Amino acid sequence: MLRSLDFMSKTSGRLFVISGPSGVGKGTVILRLLDLVPDLAISVSATTRPPRELEIEGRHYHFLTDEQFNQMVERDEFSEWCWVHSKRYGTPRYEIEPRIENGHHVLVEIDVQGAEKLRKEYPDLLSIFIAPPSEEVLLDRLSNRKTEPKDVIDSRLSHARHELSQKHLYTHVVVNDTLDDCVQEVNALICNFITEGES
Ligand code: 5GP
Repeated sequence: MLRSLDFMSKTSGRLFVISGPSGVGKGTVILRLLDLVPDLAISVSATTRPPRELEIEGRHYHFLTDEQFNQMVERDEFSEWCWVHSKRYGTPRYEIEPRIENGHHVLVEIDVQGAEKLRKEYPDLLSIFIAPPSEEVLLDRLSNRKTEPKDVIDSRLSHARHELSQKHLYTHVVVNDTLDDCVQEVNALICNFITEGES
């Protein structure tokens, strides 16, 4: 179902998608943005994978059973959902649509396949890809995580390579060379997009 944010008006909030390969530092960038941009909320995804140590229900993810996830799919309660590493992940509509309608801005951190689906669902969103200064250094860093088994590293590497190959699909690509500069650049893009929507 296409919801081209036609429920949006001049008083509505705006939708932002941020993607980037694992290890690029997008989590840190997003935390800083939450402090800088007024009225910006982060969308919490749902997943069928079990929680990891220190992960909190409702903060890191909404952890669902297969049955609960199925029910949400049947009721069209996801803006998008995908299989990742044989588990399902999805963006619940309730994380986005009521907030936008109420004038709040929403940031979704999602992988490239999820971003592609969200773009189709909400063509008016702004998408930003956070890229590493050097792809070689990032891939090298990911392959040297000694705490992880080889198959996990291999899968992470091929996922990162795929993500990097899709960056041209985004409205903006911002290189995270210096954290402060990257945060400032993304903040400016977001604030401009919000201001354009109000004019
Ligand atoms: P993790 O299990 O390591 O937290 O996440 C695994 C992958 O799932 C990451 O690539 C992450 O971007 C992706 N992911 C997290 N939430 C969502 C979501 O709501 N939708 C989609 N399509 N992917 C997601």
